Amino acid sequence: NLKSGIVGLANVGKSTLFQSITKSSLGNPANFPYATIDPEEARVIVPDERFDWLCEHYKPKSQVPANLTVYDIAGLTRGASTGAGLGNSFLSHIRAVDAIFQVVRCFDDAEIIHVEGDVDPCRDLTIINEELRIKDIEFVEKALDLLSKQTRRGGQSLEMKKLKEEEATTAKILEFLKDGNDIRKGDWSPKEVEVINPLFLLTAKPVVYLVNLSERDYIRQKNKYLPKVFEWIKTNSPGDPILPVSAQFEERLTLMHDDAAAEAECKTLGTKSGLPKIITTMRQSMNLGSFFTTGEDEVRQWTIRKGIKAPAAAGVIHTDFEKTFIQAIVYNYASLREYGDENSIKAAGKIMTKGKDYVVEDGDILLIKAGA
Ligand code: GDP
Repeated sequence: NLKSGIVGLANVGKSTLFQSITKSSLGNPANFPYATIDPEEARVIVPDERFDWLCEHYKPKSQVPANLTVYDIAGLTRGASTGAGLGNSFLSHIRAVDAIFQVVRCFDDAEIIHVEGDVDPCRDLTIINEELRIKDIEFVEKALDLLSKQTRRGGQSLEMKKLKEEEATTAKILEFLKDGNDIRKGDWSPKEVEVINPLFLLTAKPVVYLVNLSERDYIRQKNKYLPKVFEWIKTNSPGDPILPVSAQFEERLTLMHDDAAAEAECKTLGTKSGLPKIITTMRQSMNLGSFFTTGEDEVRQWTIRKGIKAPAAAGVIHTDFEKTFIQAIVYNYASLREYGDENSIKAAGKIMTKGKDYVVEDGDILLIKAGA
């Protein structure tokens, strides 16, 4: 189960946003079995119109949407990597998540103290990204020390050869970080990735930037800091998605406790909630896709890493299925929409039987056959 964490300096709007995400109707209806895990952690439903359509189509007894775990991580501070504030414990919380929402304050409000004295989003971005990188450097240095101690023994064994390779890769990773780069921006070979993954580096995790605006700026999609923030991210974190949000506006919508009223309010203002996009963008950044299982009893959306094969997908349903997988009966959601119902897809010869080398496509509807 993959987790995302909300990261940023104090007083930038993280908790407000977290509360809105978890309380909105996008979040957890009361009947969803895993509503709240603890006050800082929640599972949020992934909005997906394919799922909605399938539920409408099958009218199943039970509907189980995909979800994303969101974790509210307390504020980072300058110097966290050297233990300032509760620094190191925050950083270990970040290590435990698979992806990061970085909240950046772009709203002015003299009442809300900024820990750095004034509002300056690019400075804040620099602080957070440096803290994460410094922590990675420290971590990789330790790993490299350990490896050097092991390789010092020398020798020609296969194991020693592997250790030396690992040492060389680790040295390369360290240099890359010291040059001011984030690991996720590197062009790594599969062999290097094998060394990188077990290090759980902070700068290896996908990042989605959430730019927190005042309600007014969010509605007009204009803010005096925005151009510089876009420029900063383009230069220092190229390719990572940036979403303007307004924590305060989202909070106001959720406090209405009434979807119709919230929708009417959005219409009047000529805007909409930014939350669904936040969740779907994070799924994309994490390279996640979905397959569905359908029927009159249950329609369910399952989460997979894109590109995995049918047995691994079956293993998401039930761990045993990965080993006992026999075959999958497959058609895509797109075919269902094209032909209207399963019988017509069958008549058109578009239902396929696939073996264990089949790479599951996003939107596949699967029926897994597994042995005992
Ligand atoms: P965190 O420390 O990053 O979790 O920040 P909080 O979510 O606790 O927010 C800190 C304060 O800023 C709270 O009083 C919020 O109501 C306020 N706040 C959050 N977002 C906005 C915003 O967009 N505009 C204004 N004016 N205040 C906000």
